[in-house]
Amino acid sequence: MDFNGIKFVVVGAGFYGSVTAERIANNLGEKVVVLEKRDHIGGNSWSFFDQKTNIEIHKYGSHIFHTSNREVWDYINRFGKFNEYRHQVITIHNGKPYTMPINLLTINNFYGKNLKPWEVEAFLQGESAKEKVKNPSNLEEAIVGQIGYPLYKAFVRGYTMKQWQTDPVRLPAGIIQRLPVRYNYNTSYFSDLWEGIPEKGYGDIFRNMLDFENIEVRLGVDFFQVKDQIPDETCIIYTGPVDRFFNYKYGELCWRTLDFKEEVLDYSDYQGTAVVNYADEENPYIRTHEFRHYHPEIDYSGCDKTIVFHETSRFAKKDDLPYYPVGRDEDKKKLEKYQADAEKLNNVIFGGRLGEYRYYDMHHVIGLALKRWNYGTG
Ligand code: FAD
Ligand code: UDP
Repeated sequence: MDFNGIKFVVVGAGFYGSVTAERIANNLGEKVVVLEKRDHIGGNSWSFFDQKTNIEIHKYGSHIFHTSNREVWDYINRFGKFNEYRHQVITIHNGKPYTMPINLLTINNFYGKNLKPWEVEAFLQGESAKEKVKNPSNLEEAIVGQIGYPLYKAFVRGYTMKQWQTDPVRLPAGIIQRLPVRYNYNTSYFSDLWEGIPEKGYGDIFRNMLDFENIEVRLGVDFFQVKDQIPDETCIIYTGPVDRFFNYKYGELCWRTLDFKEEVLDYSDYQGTAVVNYADEENPYIRTHEFRHYHPEIDYSGCDKTIVFHETSRFAKKDDLPYYPVGRDEDKKKLEKYQADAEKLNNVIFGGRLGEYRYYDMHHVIGLALKRWNYGTG
């Protein structure tokens, strides 16, 4: 493969790789080649519109854009307009629907009470005081210390076990700290200043981001197949799994992958909202995504079909797509070794969720890529 005259090669066309390529092309004014082993750009954030129903399908599970970082919001809006979708999630426990994240409605419905906002904190403290959690050092202790055992058991334990196949006492507390516990009736899933779904879908955002003269995207190309043909002086921005880059020399890092069972159903509305979680372990699904809800601005009145994805999770094998870094203690030790090796490489930059083995959202990787490649001057 020809890399003549190319100073920059980006591996992976997810958000980290695409923002990086756009910045190199438009800010530095340099030519850049993007290698992507899948047959499409966009990484795990990729989506497309189903032609029959005009429903946008998030191929790798629901992706809702949210950020409080103005720079990121201004930047992403250059490539497409966002709608006013606001994410709300229902979780099913013992056959009954509750609102998630845990808020006053969840708590009152669960306990059959009518607590007021100013009474909740003391009530939850009473619940958590029943357990002996002094210095929370893992997911279970962190959340039990905040809401007590009954709510944890109902809404967190089963869901987390299914999602991570790992006992919550072995998971980092940071995973659950992504979700707020609210003492009011605010049922929004996110708490950021800006939120929405691209009106023309994520696919369109990525196409606009990469459609510049200086950017050449090569789809269906695995970096490791062509690596030896890239000149030594080329700067490589690598957004694939960091352990793969080093040929797993310190062992494999633990990743989770997801499987989606797709169904096209004869309903104009199957579940009434975009995402329904299943809190109990008896239900093998983690959640069901119903994509038509992501576009309240689209008129679906003539469409009596809906498309749903039922999600399950498992540990990734080498050939699976890695979705989530698990981040147990043994992974952290391996990661440190990979990071030390990475620092010694002058011409390779590791970025993104896979390259850094960090549980980043879209706005995080965009922000990091902008910081690295200097947003604002071009
Ligand atoms: P990726 O999108 O994973 O892109 C990496 C790319 O590198 C891939 O396209 C891969 O094919 C390519 N690649 C890897 N190895 C090679 C190789 N050897 N050669 C060539 N190409 C290679 N974030 C949010 O902000 N909101 C959400 O609602 C949200 N929901 C999510 C739901 C799910 C189910 C998942 C898994 C993630 C979700 N995220 C969400 C997170 C979001 O997907 C990530 O933040 C984002 O995809 C990270 O972008 P990235 O560029 O780092 O990685
Ligand atoms: N979580 C939970 N019950 C829920 C939703 C989330 O226990 O109904 C926990 C679970 O451990 C999950 C974490 O909260 O991994 C973060 O949830 P989030 O929705 O942010 O995870 P995502 O699927 O977006 O990565």
